This record gives sequence, C-alpha cells and structure tokens, in this order.
Amino acid sequence: MERSGESVQAKAEERMVMEETEAAKMAADAEKTEEEKIAGDAEASHGGERSRETSAAGEPPEIMRLEIEGRSCNEAFARVVVAVFTSRLDPTLEEIDDIKTAVSEAVTNAVIHGYENRGGTIYIEAALSGRELTVTVRDEGVGIEDVARAMEPMYTTDCTGERSGMGFAFMEAFMDQVEVWSEPGKGTAVTMKKRIGG
Ligand code: ATP
Ligand code: MG
Repeated sequence: MERSGESVQAKAEERMVMEETEAAKMAADAEKTEEEKIAGDAEASHGGERSRETSAAGEPPEIMRLEIEGRSCNEAFARVVVAVFTSRLDPTLEEIDDIKTAVSEAVTNAVIHGYENRGGTIYIEAALSGRELTVTVRDEGVGIEDVARAMEPMYTTDCTGERSGMGFAFMEAFMDQVEVWSEPGKGTAVTMKKRIGG
C-alpha cells in the first residue's frame, strides 16, 4: 500500500504533536507524584511527634547543591528538589508550599530579571541544620542597582504589565528571613531561612 507524501507528513506531524503532549503529561505526572509522596510522608509522620532533625547542634549541616540552566521550564524542577530535600525534616504541607513558592519566586527572578530570559546558570544551595532550612538562589546576571527599593512590595522594573512586583514580598512572607546580595554586572544571591516545625 502506498501513501502520498502529504499524508505521510500529516501523519508524522500528528505523531509529533501526540508525543509532545505525552511528554508534557509525563512531566506533570512526575511532579504530581513527587508532590503527593512528599505530602504523604509529611502527613504520615505528623500522627506522632515531629522528632526528626538532620544534624545535632554543633554538627555540620547537610548540604545539597544544584545547578540548572536559567529557563522557566526548570523552575518547577528546582522547587520540587528543594521540597524533597527538606522533606526529611517532616515539614507540614503548608511549610512545603511556602518553601516551594519562595524558591519559585527567586528562580523566576533569576531567569527573567537576572538573565533577562537569555539563559545562564542558576546555582541553588540548600542546607539543613537542626530544624532550619537555608536556601540560596544565585545568578551571575545583570544584578540589582538598589536592593532595598527592589524589595519594596509592588516595585517592579517590568514594563509589560505581566509582573506585579510581589516576588520579594512573597519570599519574605513565606520564609522567616530573606537576605539579598547583589552587584550590578556581577549577579544576585537571595538567601532565605525557614525553621521547620515552628
Ligand atoms: P513578580 O515577582 O510579582 O512577578 P517582579 O519580579 O518584578 O514581579 P520582585 O520579584 O519583587 O517583582 O522583584 C522586584 C524587582 O527586583 C524586579 O522587577 C527586578 O527589577 C529586580 N530583581 C529581582 N530579582 C532580580 C535578579 N535576580 N536579578 C536582577 N534583578 C532582579
Ligand atoms: Mg519576581
């Protein structure tokens, strides 16, 4: 049986669309499964007392380092990795959501402001010491001229109307402490701390 070139091409295109849809669905499922697992672990452990600590006082913290390409599609991956890393402290679902939101905002800022959507490496470091999580999101992008001003709620340099200038405000609301280092032309590092378990 012979097929015309046109119909073969149409079939190939149709298949590509199907494969892309399938890949997107698998990625979404993977994130969902991971999140459900974290949620399950957190809930299961909260039946009893939250006694797990990563390291006793005086011991070195447990550290995780991750380098990702500064693209929007990697933001979900970064926030899940930090959430999974923190799961060993038995965080509540609310604590997990807070951490994920804060990491998302910092990574998104590095992608769109730091690297101006042109890509570049984003360095993420998370440390667990006792019951405290410290997470740093760093880029080597354009940097910030006036950090105090940038951190004011509703301040944004975005002119498209897409951004609301609330990223830093969310980080401060959801984490216990937020510190920003930045130098124009060198980059930006956002360090956030959160105590798990109050
Ligand atoms: P939203 O987060 O609500 O979408 P936004 O990103 O503009 O809007 P913030 O996250 O609070 O708001 O950031 C405020 C401003 O700080 C940004 O508009 C940008 O000018 C600057 N900024 C933030 N992070 C970086 C970064 N990593 N590199 C360079 N500039 C940054
Ligand atoms: Mg932002």
